[in-house]
Amino acid sequence: MSQPFSQRLRQLYRLTPPLARSVASENLKRLTWLALIGVPFGLLHILAFSLNLQGTRAEFDGWRHGIIATHAVVALLLACIGLLAWYARRRTEPAPLLYCEALGTGAAGVLLAFGLTITFFDQQVTSSITPFLMGCVAAALILLLRPLAAATLYVGAFVAFELAMELAQPDPQMRLSNQMGGLTICGIGILLSLILWSGNLRNLRQRQHLRRQRKELEEKNRQLEYLAGHDPLTGLFNRRQFDQLVKQELARCDRQPMPVSLLMIDLDHFKFINDRYGHPLGDEVIRHTANLLRKHTRSTDSVARLGGEEFLLLLPDSAVPQAMAIAEKLRKLLEETPLPMKDGLLYLTASFGIATLESGVSGTYERLYATADQALYRAKASGRNRVEVMDAAPCGTLE
Ligand code: GH3
Ligand code: MG
Ligand code: MG
Repeated sequence: MSQPFSQRLRQLYRLTPPLARSVASENLKRLTWLALIGVPFGLLHILAFSLNLQGTRAEFDGWRHGIIATHAVVALLLACIGLLAWYARRRTEPAPLLYCEALGTGAAGVLLAFGLTITFFDQQVTSSITPFLMGCVAAALILLLRPLAAATLYVGAFVAFELAMELAQPDPQMRLSNQMGGLTICGIGILLSLILWSGNLRNLRQRQHLRRQRKELEEKNRQLEYLAGHDPLTGLFNRRQFDQLVKQELARCDRQPMPVSLLMIDLDHFKFINDRYGHPLGDEVIRHTANLLRKHTRSTDSVARLGGEEFLLLLPDSAVPQAMAIAEKLRKLLEETPLPMKDGLLYLTASFGIATLESGVSGTYERLYATADQALYRAKASGRNRVEVMDAAPCGTLE
């Protein structure tokens, strides 16, 4: 569906700050290129006119010198503008928008003045106004000019051109023809600038829209990745992610022998808590336990929620004594850190099963997991709130 005219007009004028920034940086880029191409182009002209290769007669020296001086001044101005634009692009913090707009409008003014001055001097040898046409078209093509700035520039250029023709073109017919030509050229310039401004703006808006969408997509992907590997209730690793971590750790142990322990933790009488206080408080207990486990383990340890009120803890580079010490520390911590409730404190305990693969002994995750489960079973059977350990060696004590 096409937009109403008033909305399209508003879109031409109103730039959001990010869009104004995109216009500014696009202009700065183009100004650098303009200087890179325009300066050698000017120098080439200076050389050709200075060498006077065609042997122009001395009576036309004024014309030649005028052309040379114009090219020299314009090359110098373009070099300055290019340097300022290049510097503005290199700065870490973005250049002020007003500065960028002044550079862009200034460069357009230079191009228009260049075409006008060359045409002025050219009137001594030809009635052609092609340089003015080229200057006007180049300014519209190269630079992104706000409509008002473009209109002001081209109207100004038209007035200056009319005056220049009055001064430079003695033949009344040629003068009238050139003045009408100048009017057409300035009209074309405004129109071209407006068309390109709106087209460029549409492109920049679309690019911004795509960039925003890509960012949203990346953020969604990050969230999905997180959800795929984490438990939503506690933020701990989920079973899927934990399995991968353990397998990687076991592969590492195969290359660089070191012990590894797996702790399986199960809250005691959790069903009773759920039944007595309700599931929301049960969830609170799970979160509380998860926070304790996360806070009091090393960053190299991995903690996961296996499901329900069961947790897994992978302890790299930990043999039986270290694993037992850590499990005992966590068991006591849980026992001594009750969960505050509305009307008092809820004391919790958990049972711990440890399976350890000693350094240099290779074993599978399945075996490690089954052994930890057996150790946990033994802790439960022996009265709960305790730590049991078993060796997960292939020919070990798997009962
Ligand atoms: P034990 O000391 O032998 O471990 O007894 P228990 O009551 O803790 O053991 P059991 O495995 O029988 O109970 C686990 C309960 O956990 C059963 C189930 O309703 C509850 N549960 C499982 N997932 C969740 C959860 O996400 N939130 C809550 N609140 N409860 C859960
Ligand atoms: Mg359980
Ligand atoms: Mg339990």
